Parts: sequence; structure tokens; C-alpha cells
Amino acid sequence: MKTGICPKCTATKVFSGASVALKKGPFGSNAIPIALTSIAALDNYVCTSCGYVESYISDLGKLTEISHKWDNVGQEDNEETQNDNNEQEESKEKEGE
Ligand SMILES: [Zn+2]
Repeated sequence: MKTGICPKCTATKVFSGASVALKKGPFGSNAIPIALTSIAALDNYVCTSCGYVESYISDLGKLTEISHKWDNVGQEDNEETQNDNNEQEESKEKEGE
């Protein structure tokens, strides 16, 4: 899609909303939640031939945040490691209380 060719209908009428002002939209309507207090704005690529839309996050900081906080789909080893970390964080919080 980013190369300008629609993956659905192969038309070359692909337009990018990456430089739209206030990209997150009102109330974050053009953004996805990453964590409780963090959202990432989406760059939308639209094919004006068939109407297909693809969305990308361009903020590298947000992509890094996702790679740390979200579950890595299909990689059970990573998920187990994350769970271990969560347990450690929880026990630290209990000690603080
Ligand atoms: Zn299309």
C-alpha cells in the first residue's frame, strides 16, 4: 500500500493521510490505545478506486512502546518472559506498600 499500489484492486490511486493536521482526530478517534495513558496516531492510506484503507503508526517511540508492552503474537517464549516481569513488578509494588 505504501508503495502506491492498492493490495486489493491493484489500482495506483492510493493517497496518504500521513501529513493531516491533528492526526489523532477528535477524542483520539484516529488513534489506537497502547496503554492506559498512551495512544498512537494512525497514518491512513486510502485507495480512491475501491475505498480500501490501511493504517500505520509512524511514531517510532510508540512502536517501541508497543514492542515492550504488548504480547508478541505467536512467540510463546516472549510471552512467558513478559509474565515473569509482570510478577516481579507486582511484588515490588507490594513491598512499597
Ligand atoms: Zn483499491
